[in-house]
Amino acid sequence: MPGALQALHSAPIAEQIKEKAMSDKIIKKSDAEWRTELSPEEYRICREKGTERAFSGTYYEEHRNGVYQCRCCGEPLFSSATKCESGSGWPSFFQPIEAGALEEHRDMAHGMVRTEIVCRKCGCHLGHVFTDGPKPTGLRYCINSASLKLEAKE
Ligand code: FE
Repeated sequence: MPGALQALHSAPIAEQIKEKAMSDKIIKKSDAEWRTELSPEEYRICREKGTERAFSGTYYEEHRNGVYQCRCCGEPLFSSATKCESGSGWPSFFQPIEAGALEEHRDMAHGMVRTEIVCRKCGCHLGHVFTDGPKPTGLRYCINSASLKLEAKE
């Protein structure tokens, strides 16, 4: 019986701890707060799932080394070591900096089925991931410059 009782009581506690750890990591701000921290163009892209005009962003031709962070929350998302020349007009990467940094959502907008990528920590819209990328992953993370901030390494 002690074993059963222990299982009964420890399961909900374990779940509580897990939820607590997750909520600590998630950043939630109101639209008004995001508007004060972002330019109108950044707000449109990051918080309203907009897309910057091809070849118009800051980073599609960026070649400095460093870590690309989320524009909204500063979480590291991509390494310059995984940046690839896609010719698409948006900065592209073949893998995220770590598996848990991104979240994928099915996107049915504009008559297409695409996989939207958002920052797991704050929900910032980053772009989309496609399966026509280069080796070694075959993935192409096509990201808006406006959703990123490069922490350049000299
Ligand atoms: Fe973020």
